[in-house]
Amino acid sequence: MNKITIAIDGFSSTGKSTVAKQIAKELGYVYVDSGAMYRAVTLYAIKNGLISHDDFNVEALIYQLDKINLTFQFNESLGYAEVYLNGENVESKIRTLEVSGFVSQVAAVSEVRQKLVVIQKKLGEDKGVVMDGRDIGTVVFPNAALKIFMTASAEKRASRRYKELLERGDAITYEAVLENVTQRDRIDTTREDSPLVKAEDAIEIDNSELTLKEQFEKVLQLAKITIEGIE
Ligand code: C5P
Repeated sequence: MNKITIAIDGFSSTGKSTVAKQIAKELGYVYVDSGAMYRAVTLYAIKNGLISHDDFNVEALIYQLDKINLTFQFNESLGYAEVYLNGENVESKIRTLEVSGFVSQVAAVSEVRQKLVVIQKKLGEDKGVVMDGRDIGTVVFPNAALKIFMTASAEKRASRRYKELLERGDAITYEAVLENVTQRDRIDTTREDSPLVKAEDAIEIDNSELTLKEQFEKVLQLAKITIEGIE
């Protein structure tokens, strides 16, 4: 069976990674979370004092980009690859609201994007990949056979993310999560380099009223039709 590239883009917390993981598992494809890479670079910037609430030393981050080594390692029990920053598994550390609060500023830096896009293109070289992010269908894989653009209301997205963070034991409020989601949408859609836009040939799915199962079945059906179409 022919393998295809599946690009899943969309706003923050639309459940892109949930469906991307399910589809990858179902098709025996590799799942790549491109947002995890931007989050890992952000964690590096926080840890090294390059970004805080009143300052972002962009030049220093660009200068230190060569020191940032990102790798993925497949976790058998989770069923997907976890991200490592300079050899350390940072999968959990990158999911905090603190990292979410800075990541869109870091992701707006062209030099950061250039570095990560090179890695992402390499990871997708052999096809059979499902990658989610903001610019996968427009910049990373403009020739992807299937492009999905996920949307949902900001309130729906914030309440889903709020529940997730509560389950992790993070001390946060719904208002703070909603504020983060809308702030990231704003920065991601208005940045100069690779802003979040729906690719012309992407299929839009609004999952505000869809269950996880319905969403999965919809995307799986699209994937199957696409695979059949190119065989
Ligand atoms: O997907 P996730 O919400 O984890 O992504 C975190 C942030 O990383 C996004 O808000 C966006 O600023 C940035 N990002 C990006 N391009 C991608 C993936 C993520 O700019 N391909």
